[in-house]
Amino acid sequence: MSGQDWFTDGARVSVLTAEPVGRPLDYLAPEGGCWAGAFVMVPLGPRKVLGVVWGAGDGDFAAAKLRRVLQVMDVPPMKVEMRQFLMKMASYTMTPLPQVLRLATRAPGLFDAPGLRKIYRLGSGEPSRMTDARARVLEVLRDHGGAGFQLGELAALAGVTTSVVKGMLTSGAVVEADVPRDAPFERLDPSLPGKVLSEAQRAAVARLEDGSGGFAPVLLKGVTGSGKTEVYLEAVADCLRQGRQALVLLPEIALSSEFLARVEARFGAKPGEWHSGVTQTERRRLWKATASGEVQMVAGARSALFLPFRDLGLIVVDEEHDTSYKQEEGVLYNARDMAVLRASLCGAQVVLASATPSLETWANAEAGKYARVDLGARFGASKLPEMRPIDMRNETIESQHWIGPTLVGAVIDRVRRGEQAMLFLNRRGYAPVTICRACGHQIGCDHCDARMVEHRFMKQLVCHQCGETKPIPTQCPNCKVEGKLAPVGPGVERLAEEVRERFPDSRMAVLSSDLFTTARALKEAISDIANGGADIIIGTQIVAKGHNFPKLSLVGVIDADLGLQGSDLRAAERTFQLMRQVAGRAGRAETEGLALLQTYQPEHPVIRAILGGDEEAFWRAEAAQRQAQHVPPYGRMAGIILSGPDLKPLFDIGEALSRQSGPLREIEATVYGPAPAPVARVRGRHRVRLLVKADKRAPLQAALARWVAQVRLPNNVRLAIDIDPQSFM
Ligand code: ADP
Ligand code: ZN
Repeated sequence: MSGQDWFTDGARVSVLTAEPVGRPLDYLAPEGGCWAGAFVMVPLGPRKVLGVVWGAGDGDFAAAKLRRVLQVMDVPPMKVEMRQFLMKMASYTMTPLPQVLRLATRAPGLFDAPGLRKIYRLGSGEPSRMTDARARVLEVLRDHGGAGFQLGELAALAGVTTSVVKGMLTSGAVVEADVPRDAPFERLDPSLPGKVLSEAQRAAVARLEDGSGGFAPVLLKGVTGSGKTEVYLEAVADCLRQGRQALVLLPEIALSSEFLARVEARFGAKPGEWHSGVTQTERRRLWKATASGEVQMVAGARSALFLPFRDLGLIVVDEEHDTSYKQEEGVLYNARDMAVLRASLCGAQVVLASATPSLETWANAEAGKYARVDLGARFGASKLPEMRPIDMRNETIESQHWIGPTLVGAVIDRVRRGEQAMLFLNRRGYAPVTICRACGHQIGCDHCDARMVEHRFMKQLVCHQCGETKPIPTQCPNCKVEGKLAPVGPGVERLAEEVRERFPDSRMAVLSSDLFTTARALKEAISDIANGGADIIIGTQIVAKGHNFPKLSLVGVIDADLGLQGSDLRAAERTFQLMRQVAGRAGRAETEGLALLQTYQPEHPVIRAILGGDEEAFWRAEAAQRQAQHVPPYGRMAGIILSGPDLKPLFDIGEALSRQSGPLREIEATVYGPAPAPVARVRGRHRVRLLVKADKRAPLQAALARWVAQVRLPNNVRLAIDIDPQSFM
């Protein structure tokens, strides 16, 4: 595929659409011709659909029957590197290409003409009669250069009515013009002075500059608060100075305005924003501005990776270990890995930033595939918190309570000093289980193999798998006895009750995503806490991510053992990352931080590693274990999920696959299962899973394709392939 192909009028072209037709279809180039990569409208059956000219047509379809491309859109053609990226991604994730193309054209109304709006500018005429009001209008227009104003804005700035402005049109002193509704993006200026960097930061920036200007992945590792953000903003500056575009991926961009404010402080203007909270008009505007090269920097969620950058020179993946980078529905991909792929195709630098990198990235750095830059201490005066276990076997605690006396004492101590304390519990809702004290029945979801979680705030039971809700019953659905249903175990809402009881004079805030109806409300709560609006903060894992609470000096982990219970391959890694991240919230400013971990197994190797702080030792031990088991990142895995309304056919298909494992044996891969998936039923559909393990260098995708092609699936059965599965749900 070469990027510069031009197709003359009537030439045969192949066009990929986002429709589920499988492969690109042949058409005739439109009158006036088109470039390869052009966004076009083509007829498909009775409809008109959007497509991309993928290349020359392959010619095995009678020319007389070919239909013509209807229209070429007025946006820059998709670049060859983008087409390559989408194809490689499709084959890596084993997703049909049209589905991947859909990710790259997700800007609603992209091809509608932008609406026009009227603006008012300084004209060359003189007002027929000068008044004070008219003079003020002219003054405002002269002060503010050429951009022009909307009517209301101009009138307000001049302190006049809109009719005064309109009255100045006839003389030509003010002129009215129609301009496209999409306002231009403000320019970012990389030459503005940044913060004065520490020695360690300067050294890190110099290392990043060595790798700029081409494909070069770097792990930027440093504890929370060590100044990584400041360092990678300098890499952004470097990229902007080269006239290329930069993309920063952030896991919780929709929740934080702090990052945007920091970019503005550094470069004098905000970056483009891309996430679920951005309006459709804004999305369309940003999509076009990345294609034209007008926007210099984008801060976004994982899907920003599919924006049509004209010249992408840098991708930063902040908190690169974060599980939210893995898309678990639709196209199953890991945005961190796809960022590296995309960068390799467009010659961009990649910076993977984290305090607790994923084992994959750590191993790539160990193997020398990625450069590694470490920022040692925290920036300035702030120190890493001291971490201590609280052995729960030695604490006396009343039943239905979860904050032990040692932690209570520590909280009182901090709050008395005017500091903040955070209690961390990674469980939404009031109680994870509702049990009948008469018959022992636990209330489950009708559609999933999961227990219903009581959410007292919403006065409902909620299934965390499918979102199904039902009212909290007074009578046991099993034995029909009244008044015997009781909550078991704590969620954050129940913990809040305990906090109110134990610390009645303190102001408390609960941060859990389901307690807020909009991202804006949650964002406001976060900034209110940062400004000292609460003494005790109760939070789920959303508090672990990047929010800066300057007065926070104590973090108490209610149940440090919680994440260690699963049989998940990554249970140890995840617990280690989460605990270190949460603890890192304490003592970010001048106050000294303390993290206390309530645990029943203080001698567990993972808990010891978390407390010991010898991170390299933890990763080495974890790496050795995975190496011995030939599992990622030292082997490859794929999950196969069969789902359907009935269980039996799923097992039949699973057994058939397991028997016909020839294509997998050819690459010396092993298949495990079929077995019920850990969540064996979701939304009324049964789920059965197989797991394939292969050598790191084995051509896994091709073998999987041959393997699954051997079985015919009934219409109501779905087979999904998850390459590099992250969770084993
Ligand atoms: P990280 O990204 O590693 O968590 P940050 O870049 O957010 O660290 O830095 C932590 C805090 O220190 C922030 O409040 C940041 O503004 C401040 N900081 C970092 N580097 C500097 C610097 N060179 N000068 C002044 N403040 C800095
Ligand atoms: Zn359910």
